[in-house]
Amino acid sequence: MSDITLILLGAGSASRFKLPPKKQWLWSDKQPLWLQVAHNFESLYPFKETIIVSSKEDIQSMSNFSNHRFIEGGSTRQASLRNALEVVTTPFVLVSDIARCCLDIAMIERVISAKKSMSCVVPTLKVVDTLYFNQQPIDREKTQIIQTPQLSCTPTLKKALLGNQEFTDDSSAIASQGGEIIFVEGSPTAHKLTTVEDLKKLPCIKKPSTQALIGFGIDIHPFEEGKPMMLCGIHIDSPFGFKAHSDGDVAIHAIIDALLGAGGLGDIGEFYPDTSDDYKGADSSELLNDTVRRLRDLGYVIGNVDLTIIAQTPRLLTYKKAMRFNLAKLLNLTPNLVNIKATTAEKLGWIGRKEGVAVEAVATLYYYDWTQQ
Ligand code: MG
Repeated sequence: MSDITLILLGAGSASRFKLPPKKQWLWSDKQPLWLQVAHNFESLYPFKETIIVSSKEDIQSMSNFSNHRFIEGGSTRQASLRNALEVVTTPFVLVSDIARCCLDIAMIERVISAKKSMSCVVPTLKVVDTLYFNQQPIDREKTQIIQTPQLSCTPTLKKALLGNQEFTDDSSAIASQGGEIIFVEGSPTAHKLTTVEDLKKLPCIKKPSTQALIGFGIDIHPFEEGKPMMLCGIHIDSPFGFKAHSDGDVAIHAIIDALLGAGGLGDIGEFYPDTSDDYKGADSSELLNDTVRRLRDLGYVIGNVDLTIIAQTPRLLTYKKAMRFNLAKLLNLTPNLVNIKATTAEKLGWIGRKEGVAVEAVATLYYYDWTQQ
């Protein structure tokens, strides 16, 4: 049984990364970056377990992609690491940042093979530039650049992180406790993804696949007298609206399901549960806005949306254009990419008896092409 747990940290806000998706959600062919990093590490060593630390919202999405153990991060790198260490049972732990995404196999082997009880193994680089400190040149031979991943003795690292002092890496925390630091040769290719410019230095991130992802959604709501009727975010003149926990915009609900379906993200109930008071009487346009924002964060681009509203009543012909333009605005699409069809049920069944409305929607997503930057 392996004696090392891998911890991958990715809970930071990454405020210096100025692209629409979060950096851990850039797509490398058909894999999000965080998953590629985890798989690449796992192909190098049989870790007992891989723990991925991220935000609560990201974990909800990530858990649809893999069976890794996900732990919610804290407000700092150190707080995130502490949260992860709580569940580690192996004597050693290898900690890396997801942003350090292109692995140098030989360097990781050097780090792992140097492991020793009570210590921390750190890859380092020599400084090749001239260094000044307080306006005075200093001897660069006495300096070194510290990299990750770092391998630590688990109890030593846990103890080192107990106090309130903030450290920028694991080795400085362990060194502050008098722990032994073992230096091994680092790798000049192990760049960290911090800004968009760094992407040019990271050849392991492949161009995203151009495959279209298709999602389907369906929703049904019965009528409720006296409630305003909302469809596609447009108020429809009608003596009844839709019975629902939210405003009952059955068309937007079907679109949200189609979008989440295309992204492999589950369904509307998982994101905006109708058992939660947060969504009582919710404006469905805001839920769609939130879905669009999440998809953007996860590196998806919406291709198009097509929906069919099946309603015996109300008559929708005069509303269709307003619906199309309103949805296009909510989805950040041009109106030709948002198609709305309305049909009756030819007086058949519950729709034909004017008891409610059904909507079916199809949506496509693409991966955000970061190579165009
Ligand atoms: Mg619904």
